[in-house]
Amino acid sequence: MGLAPANLESVCVFCGSSDAADPPLLADAARLGRGLAAADLTLIYGGGGVGLMGACAIAAHEAGGRVLGVIPHFLKEKERRLDVVETVVVSSMHERKQIMFERSDAFVVLPGGIGTLEEVVELLSWRRLDLHAKPVVFFSPNGFWEPLFQLFQHTVDHQLTPASFMQSWISVERIEDVIPALVGAPGDIQTPAVAARMT
Ligand code: AMP
Repeated sequence: MGLAPANLESVCVFCGSSDAADPPLLADAARLGRGLAAADLTLIYGGGGVGLMGACAIAAHEAGGRVLGVIPHFLKEKERRLDVVETVVVSSMHERKQIMFERSDAFVVLPGGIGTLEEVVELLSWRRLDLHAKPVVFFSPNGFWEPLFQLFQHTVDHQLTPASFMQSWISVERIEDVIPALVGAPGDIQTPAVAARMT
């Protein structure tokens, strides 16, 4: 079933690696994985089997979706590399992020910790520098990411970041809104016909 627009084939998901995450968050990550598979979208992710990243990837794989993991050699044990999905083993975090960026048409940010923050701040800073126009959608249940958005606004209020930066992403509170939002997010994917099919 090909629900995805022609120019949206792969979606990178940044998310937490903690197995101690709230069970509803792990369930939401799995739901997104199934949704990506159903929409015929390839999941690009960090390659591990832990936390939200593992939940999302395992669910996508079990639902018949395509999954590509990108994991640094030194994290293969710690993040329990998933052997059942295609995985690229790289030598550094920088290489991991570069490949994830290049292979993805759009990005989804689920709740996560410092690693997720690092990944999304770099992605948005590249957007700020006009290095890309790929859609970015935050899943922010119960306002999870609001403190980050407030920090961004704080830098805008001090004339350190242009106000237009605040239009660089879309934030949704329900996991079922993530994939439809990818189509409508600010960026270079414009396929109204597909957006209609996904509602
Ligand atoms: P966390 O949100 O801290 O659970 O981390 C989520 C993912 O981000 C994990 O797969 C980490 O390995 C990854 N990560 C942490 N720091 C970095 C970094 N500097 N570059 C790339 N990935 C990172």
